[in-house]
Amino acid sequence: MSRDEATRDLRRYLKQRLDAGESVVLLPAGAVTSSAAEAAGGSPPGTPAPEPTAPDAEVAADAFEAPATTTASVASDSLAQVAAEIRACTQCRLHQTRTNAVPGVGPDDAGLVFVGEGPGADEDAQGEPFVGRAGQLLTKIIESVKLQRGEVFITNIVKCRPPNNRDPQPDEVAACEPYLRRQLALLQPRVICALGRHASSALLKTQDSMARLRQGRHEYAGIRVFPTYHPAALLRNSKWKRPVWEDIQNVRRCYDTPEQKP
Ligand code: SF4
Repeated sequence: MSRDEATRDLRRYLKQRLDAGESVVLLPAGAVTSSAAEAAGGSPPGTPAPEPTAPDAEVAADAFEAPATTTASVASDSLAQVAAEIRACTQCRLHQTRTNAVPGVGPDDAGLVFVGEGPGADEDAQGEPFVGRAGQLLTKIIESVKLQRGEVFITNIVKCRPPNNRDPQPDEVAACEPYLRRQLALLQPRVICALGRHASSALLKTQDSMARLRQGRHEYAGIRVFPTYHPAALLRNSKWKRPVWEDIQNVRRCYDTPEQKP
């Protein structure tokens, strides 16, 4: 990766995390290179390190004491770490009734992320998202634009099943959203497809109808978002088939050419 690319990627990553309201930014392991460090305000590569003086030595010693909160505290994070925390999470009442938490599935370099509302009965039983009938339809939707399910990341707004498939409550969405933010910050996908009005509303902080949402241009943490109907809705009513087809075509175009506005 060139220095310009590393600089751009780090700036984009830091902006996403800070836009998400975090005061401490975690960087994926290995994310800090000499170029990236320069982007964050360090010295350019090849710049000789200044000779330490006695006052500097005191500052360096202080740096090993309890750190103050900064805008870019560097630590490692990974999708596996996020998933482990989700499986052990008790931050909202949904943990009391789950069989399995469902962190999400997909490669760690996925350029496309599908975000649903929450796990259903099949997903709760298996610990994987979108494995029931709606999941099988989602697989067909993905394959309709010449992608494989294994190429994309699939997750939900809440990672534990709401009892009786009720809608997630606002405090449950708020408790779980940091996990999604971390997943997206690690993945840095080119495009997000939000499945259904609840997922779209939670991501975009709006109560607009799906018909209206589909007309607008949306971003979440700097990533393009395409809302569309949930596959379960499609199973109930085939009239949503054409709009979903149009939306997934737009998703594919953005996936291929991220700067293009369909
Ligand atoms: S839904 Fe999210 S916040 Fe609530 S217990 Fe499960 S992982 Fe934790």
